[in-house]
Amino acid sequence: MSSFTEPLSWLEVHLDRLRWNYLSLQKRLKRGADCAAVVKADAYGLGAVAIVPELYKSNCRHFFVANVAGGIVVRDTLGENESRIYVFNGPYAPDAADFARNNLIPVLNTPGDIEYWSGFAKKSGRKQPAVIQVDTGMNRMGLSPDEVKRLGHNTDILKPLDVRYIMSHLACADTPEHPKNREQLEKFMIAVEHLGLPCPLSFANSSGIFLGEDFHFDLARPGAALYGINPQNTDQNPMQGVVTLKVRILQTREAAKGETVGYGANYTVSSPTKLATISAGYADGILRSFTTDGAVFIRGQKCPVVGRVSMEAIVVDVTQLSPPPQVGEWAEIIGEHQTVDDVAAAAKTIGYEILTGLGGKHKRIYSGQAQA
Ligand SMILES: *Cc1c(COP(=O)(O)O)cnc(C)c1O
Repeated sequence: MSSFTEPLSWLEVHLDRLRWNYLSLQKRLKRGADCAAVVKADAYGLGAVAIVPELYKSNCRHFFVANVAGGIVVRDTLGENESRIYVFNGPYAPDAADFARNNLIPVLNTPGDIEYWSGFAKKSGRKQPAVIQVDTGMNRMGLSPDEVKRLGHNTDILKPLDVRYIMSHLACADTPEHPKNREQLEKFMIAVEHLGLPCPLSFANSSGIFLGEDFHFDLARPGAALYGINPQNTDQNPMQGVVTLKVRILQTREAAKGETVGYGANYTVSSPTKLATISAGYADGILRSFTTDGAVFIRGQKCPVVGRVSMEAIVVDVTQLSPPPQVGEWAEIIGEHQTVDDVAAAAKTIGYEILTGLGGKHKRIYSGQAQA
């Protein structure tokens, strides 16, 4: 009587809401500032090939990826047009010519990067585009304040380069009251002054946009907010959810008082309970830490996770559903009733990790495409 076929899970990406999010971020920026899109990690796991053209149709022209492989995907998807594609992690490719060939712009993070890229530009016989990243307190990527000063005294090395932006990245933008935000802003201004280049600036990620116009400069670089993650640490999410994740019920059963559920037998049933086993687990990006506080929604009703999340299955309590759910019915993990941030909170992590972890593990469908 098995009444369903694969897929056992279904990840819907709502492209109309993605575009809405992009436009609403662009609108928030001060006059003259441009809104880029960060599409690293395959557009936060949602599929750059589908995401990037939608953003382009919304007039997004600047795309940031982490590495050359990601950049080539975006370039192949968009073809040659007005798009600019920047590679955060530096000019590292088997061959510097991979950048030129695919029209990718490296972010230069170290004096070594600058030397290398400047040397390549000289050899290539024409100015090569680049972004220079300065570190303003995150201590992750970019020139240190000392390196910035030294570069400021020796800008000749930049002559072969066409420096498109100077950028930096915020560590605490999702906490507006954190003093580090202003500190980084000040350090950024100092670095820019030391470099003394007439050059546009890029500073804000998603949350940075919400810190106000002082943080906007010429190009904002949101990622998370485009994909519906709340950029503010308040309950009110100004963005629209972009993802719906549904998985099938594989089996239903009843457990009597005193029985246990799942690995480690660490959940004991306290009264007769109806259970449903659904087809997702930590191998599908539903983290094991979703065990204690996690829930899914079946027919819009909240069904708590019971027993440990396992590799490809989760058991939930469906006692309150009447009539009881059927094998093949859908359980919503992310969607109308539960946001990606809710799932992240229950799993004690952030929406970013949940989204990127879903990755290519579910059948993806895309809805709400823009007309060409
Ligand atoms: C990932 C990243 C972003 C985007 O950050 P969100 O918080 O996702 O908006 C911007 N800039 C840099 C340097 C990044 O690494």
